[in-house]
Amino acid sequence: MFRDVNIFSNKCLICNVKDIYKYNICNDCYCNLEEYRDSLDYKFKYLDEIYVNYYYNNFLKEIVVDFKYNEKTYLDRFFGEMYINKIFEEKLNKKYSLITYIPMTKYYENKRGYNQSKLISEYISKNTLIETKELLYKNRNNKRQKDLSKEERYGNVRDIFSCREDVSDKNILIIDDIVTTGYTLDFAAKALKELGAKKVAAIVAATHRSL
Ligand SMILES: [Zn+2]
Repeated sequence: MFRDVNIFSNKCLICNVKDIYKYNICNDCYCNLEEYRDSLDYKFKYLDEIYVNYYYNNFLKEIVVDFKYNEKTYLDRFFGEMYINKIFEEKLNKKYSLITYIPMTKYYENKRGYNQSKLISEYISKNTLIETKELLYKNRNNKRQKDLSKEERYGNVRDIFSCREDVSDKNILIIDDIVTTGYTLDFAAKALKELGAKKVAAIVAATHRSL
């Protein structure tokens, strides 16, 4: 897979110039992150908890686009460390024993060649020993949420996920990148609960400043 930085150097994954400070990026790049301090103003029906790291500002948007659409898969080391930090900070490793992620439509996964949330999940697993499993699948094709209005988004993901196996009494952590309406995460949590999950939480990199 295409990589354009030396992943074995200890230089920042974003600017590739300065030494690493946190999450495999330098202090200057890190300072562009804006910590999320609000509470989400929508109610989840199935999702028990959500942990949001940062605001989706232009700096983070560029990184997300590079990671998702420009084949910069090595950025899993940036996101992975960010999520691991949150997991330990909130002691989620004591509450959740299984990690899963939002699946992509097969068409897009084949086109892109990877699912970025799967890469993050696998990075987290390797470094925390919390098991990762591909539990969810899409039971029909749908459009990308970002191409739709808020009203259309609900119908687009309504009951779209199914769970592959029995997850009775498991506490599960879903990995996703950006939360906007929350519908995707809530229907993912619903599918896991239908197959027995006890508690479902989500951890995301960012959300928009105002919904
Ligand atoms: Zn940097």
